[in-house]
This record gives sequence, C-alpha cells and structure tokens, in this order.
Amino acid sequence: MKDLNEFLIKRDNNNYEVVIGLEVHAQVTSNSKLFSSSSTKFGAEPNTQVSLVDAAFPGMLPVINEFCVKQAIKTGIGLKAQINKKSVFDRKNYFYADLPQGYQISQYKHPIVGEGKVILDMPNGQKEIGIERLHLEQDAGKSIHDIDPNSTLVDLNRSGVALMEIVSKPDLRSPDEVNVYIKKLRSIMRYLGTCDGNMQEGSLRADVNVSVRKKGETTFGTRCEIKNVNSIKFMQMAIIFEANRQVDLIEEGKSIDQETRLFDIKKNETRSMRSKEDAHDYRYFPDPDLLPLEVTDKFIDDIRSEIPELPDEKKKRFIEKFKLTHYEATILVSDIETSKYFEEVIKDADVKLSTNWITGELFAVLNEKSLEISQSPISAINLSKLINLIKDGTISGKIAKTVFEEMIVGDQDPQKIIEAKGLKQESDPKALEELIEKVIQNNADKVAEYKSGKGKLFGFFVGQAMKESKGKGNPQLINKILKEKLNG
Ligand code: ADP
Ligand code: MG
Repeated sequence: MKDLNEFLIKRDNNNYEVVIGLEVHAQVTSNSKLFSSSSTKFGAEPNTQVSLVDAAFPGMLPVINEFCVKQAIKTGIGLKAQINKKSVFDRKNYFYADLPQGYQISQYKHPIVGEGKVILDMPNGQKEIGIERLHLEQDAGKSIHDIDPNSTLVDLNRSGVALMEIVSKPDLRSPDEVNVYIKKLRSIMRYLGTCDGNMQEGSLRADVNVSVRKKGETTFGTRCEIKNVNSIKFMQMAIIFEANRQVDLIEEGKSIDQETRLFDIKKNETRSMRSKEDAHDYRYFPDPDLLPLEVTDKFIDDIRSEIPELPDEKKKRFIEKFKLTHYEATILVSDIETSKYFEEVIKDADVKLSTNWITGELFAVLNEKSLEISQSPISAINLSKLINLIKDGTISGKIAKTVFEEMIVGDQDPQKIIEAKGLKQESDPKALEELIEKVIQNNADKVAEYKSGKGKLFGFFVGQAMKESKGKGNPQLINKILKEKLNG
C-alpha cells in the first residue's frame, strides 16, 4: 500500500508513533437471536425474521439464548481470557429509527469475558495484543436510505442478533498490525465456530480508535474513534488518514478533540460525527427484565472441554512434528480449512513435498480463481496421490505440473491422467541408454568440445536427452548414464 509507506516514512522522520485500539463487533454464529427465537439467516427478505421481541412490542420479554452465552465463553477461552461467572445485561439508551426498543441490551460494567490476549506473528517476531474485555450485545436493525427518495426504510431482520464486542487494549502500532490482528481474531473464531468472520456480510466490523504521540512519550495522545469500518483495507486507510490529520494538527500547534468520526470511503478521509461534548449519555442501567447472568464452573469446564486445537497450538505442533518452518506453519494454520486440507494430504504423503505443493501450486490456483480452499478444484486425496507418484518416481516433478493442470478440471485421479496420456516416467536404463546414444551421435561436435574441457556443455546433453524422452525421462538416471558415457 503506497500511502502506508508514505505515512511511515514521512512520520518516522518526524518521530511520531500511531496508537490504535479496536472495538471489534463479531456476529455470534447462532441460528437464533440473543433474546428471541427468530432466525439469523443472512439475505432473507426484509422484516421476515422479526419476532415481537425484536420489534419491541409492548409487554415483550427477552429470554437469553444459552447457545449465544456458550459461544461468547468459548471465544473468551480462545482469547486466553478471564471468564466472569457473573455478568450483567444493561440497557444502553439511545433513540434511532432502527432501534425499536429505544435501547440496546448490552453489557457495560460487568461483561461476560475479562482480560485476555492475542499473539500476532509479525515479520520481525511475535507481538502480544491485550484484550480488555468481550461482552454480549444486541445488534440494531438496518436503515435503508437508498431505495425510496422520500423516506428511510427499516429492515429489522438484524435487530436482536447476538454480537460479541471484543475490545482491545491500545496496543496496536501500525496498519500492518491491525491487518494481522483482525485476521488472527477471525482465524481463532473460525476455529471455534463462534463467528464466521464474513466481512462482506457485516459479520465482523470495527470501531477504530486512533491517537498519535511523539516516540518515547509515555502517555497516550487524545484519541478519535472511527465508527463502524467493515473491511481491513478501509481500517488501514482510515488509520493512515486519521494519524496524518492528527500529526498535522499537532505540528500546527493545535490540539486534538476527542470525537467520533466517520470514514468516507469515496473521499478517503475521516469526518467528524460528534464531539465529546455532545457525546451520547446512554443512561446505562441493569435491564430489569433480565436477571444477572450466572454460570457455574461446570458450565465453563464443559465448554473448555469442547475447545479444539487453536492456531497457535496447531502451529507449534506442525513445527515440532512435521519440521515445518515457522513461515510454512503460519500459512498452513491461518485458516482452519487449510490446516485440515494439509493434514488430510499428509496422512500418507511426504510432508515436505505436500507443503511445497499446497503453498505453491495449489495456492496459486486458488488465488487465481479467487477460491477458498474448501472450494479447491483438487481434493486432498487426489493431491496426495499426485505427491506419491512424484515420490516413487512414477513421474518427475516437471511432468507432475502438467498432470496437476489436468487435475484441476474435474478433480481427476492423477494415475488415470498419467495412463491416458502416457506420461509415466521412463526409468528403464536400457531405453534411456538408447536415446542417450542417439543424442551423442547427433551431436558429435558438442561431444568433442565437451571432451576438450567445456564441462558446461553437460547441461546441454541433459536437455537434449530430456527432449528426446518427451520430458518423461527420469532425470537422475539420465544424469548418471550421461556421465558414464561422456566421461568414460
Ligand atoms: P468507548 O466506549 O468510550 O469507546 P471503550 O473502552 O469501549 O470506550 O473502548 C475504548 C477503545 O479505545 C479501546 O479499544 C482502547 O484500546 C482504545 N483506546 C483507548 N485509549 C486510546 C488512545 N489514547 N489511543 C488509541 N486508542 C485508545
Ligand atoms: Mg467505543
């Protein structure tokens, strides 16, 4: 990202540092809402998934969804966080058309999850980002401004859907770290199955808090909060713009107002929404319709026993057991589906070759076709077959690439392609000797040159022999026989 580098270069010279804290809103993976049994399915017709609770009819009573509570605790465990056995649901009061209750049920002073941490793998090593808290809250409905020219329409399907707000400590120091942080959070939640992390569908979005300070300063500068940013790229752009804006103000001798800002994607700038003075007074108070939420040790332990191996632990195991490099392991565990695919392939195929083929050829195809690994055109079982055919010398690595290209179409069995196309590697010494003889006879001049000391020509003979074998000759054998014939 060009702007990013400009920012870092320009501001580094000025010795400024950017400080970032994120409030991530992650939609809980759950079939029904936080306090009602309405469906949460994405993409339904507007206002078809709305119960009396979600529409806030008089007399309605919210009933907590136990599954959502479990999901929040599960996420807390994944963040190595303190789980609070007692938490409280508050009413956060504000007035808006897409909030029929006139308040959002949220957790304020007593969240369900307390302090935790997330480890980032940065190019220069690992970095720990503190988690302040995770609390459960309801999502609001959606105001639609671009359908009717005269009115705002409201869709309440999202109203009451469970969100986890995950608040980081102000530990992030660059747009790059924000990128890695969001991806790591998303990876952990996908492993846990607690949030699908789908940013296009709004399942993961963040309020981005930004301040700047001179390097070496021990206190933080005044922060601005950029509301509701729904892609990593926009978060990074917003941070860069905002940090530059704040540095400029400081350089001009002005001060920063603590305020809430909006990021305008089209103009690539942040704009003031409201200042601290007219900040909302949410008049938080415990929701009288809901008892404090109390969970037992057993409830938490049962959830703990369901926690799968998470990315950090999986990475450690991959490095120790399979001797992968740190880099390879990081790539292979970053997405749970990728790690599953990898483990499937190496069940009975060489690890080193599998790693190279997955991170090389396969990733290239997925990238090119914009596919997730779960949509891979080549199944793990067929890739492992291909790798075994390379390993046992049936085909060379070069021919394997041709076979791989064929496999992409219809996930074909590599063995069948090799048979149908006659691509089997030629490893019969007699046959190879014959064709090498031919090469030697056809290139008497080159042989003379070689014998008179032009050793570099050896590669030429290998090339000719390979060509003569239509690419199917076993390279090791060709090398061996050529050496014997030419040097003997
Ligand atoms: P609020 O409800 O006022 O937004 P929260 O505690 O929910 O407060 O969130 C505050 C967020 O701002 C946290 O993510 C925190 O890390 C971050 N933050 C706090 N101080 C600063 C600062 N000086 N610079 C950048 N981020 C900050
Ligand atoms: Mg906030």
